[in-house]
Amino acid sequence: MTAMLNVRDLRAYYGQVQALHGLSFALNEGSLTTLLGANGAGKTTTLRAICNMVRSTGAIEFEGKPLSGKSTENVVRLGIAHVPQGRGTFTTMTVEENLQLGAITRTDKKNIVADIERMYEHFPVLKERHTQQAGTLSGGEQQMLAVARALMLRPRLMLLDEPSFGLAPLIVRDLFKILGKINREDKVTILVVEQNAQLALELADQAYVIETGKIVMSGNAKEIASNEDVRKSYLGY
Ligand code: ATP
Repeated sequence: MTAMLNVRDLRAYYGQVQALHGLSFALNEGSLTTLLGANGAGKTTTLRAICNMVRSTGAIEFEGKPLSGKSTENVVRLGIAHVPQGRGTFTTMTVEENLQLGAITRTDKKNIVADIERMYEHFPVLKERHTQQAGTLSGGEQQMLAVARALMLRPRLMLLDEPSFGLAPLIVRDLFKILGKINREDKVTILVVEQNAQLALELADQAYVIETGKIVMSGNAKEIASNEDVRKSYLGY
């Protein structure tokens, strides 16, 4: 099977600082993959490099097409949605306006209303609050809105940066359940960066571990979860 996303020998730089040191990995279509690693390992930078938001070298191919030289906007147009850490909803707009804005680059306008309804099925709390300003939602609700807004692009691949950040454990579980459903039912391939390794490994089918800008381990999530080094370093037992 050819991979949907193929990343080879990725190096990324912030000025003189090199953050990624020849990172390679692949995502199969339909997979739900987690990228685990400690603070500063380079997880966020990996997602930023895929979206061309940081200077990088190496090869990134999406559905057989190279992404190098493409603007962030064009990467989005190819079907890759990025949900950065910190959510980034439009705080003075309502929930529904945020969802409509998520679809702004789409050409198939006629399905937008149905897709907003689909988001309300996934996230009923957003339906209850559809006229509320995004900035007044709770942290968990804002994270749900950020995911829903990204899905309004109808992406083929969604990149999520620490969706659990700052959320209560029960809310994280709910959110992860919905991500699993979106992956299975809506056929969105998902790459999720997480510090909450335990939950991420329960959710994902594939996992990569990143240390100082390099992949040091890869495999199916169950294998990785039972690896002794991973248990000690990331799961705490
Ligand atoms: P965290 O889990 O803490 O978010 P991370 O694995 O996502 O960490 P990155 O944010 O990708 O790690 O950072 C990788 C490295 O790049 C770190 O050493 C960090 O200090 C450095 N770095 C990140 N952003 C910048 C920046 N804007 N300028 C300089 N160095 C940066």
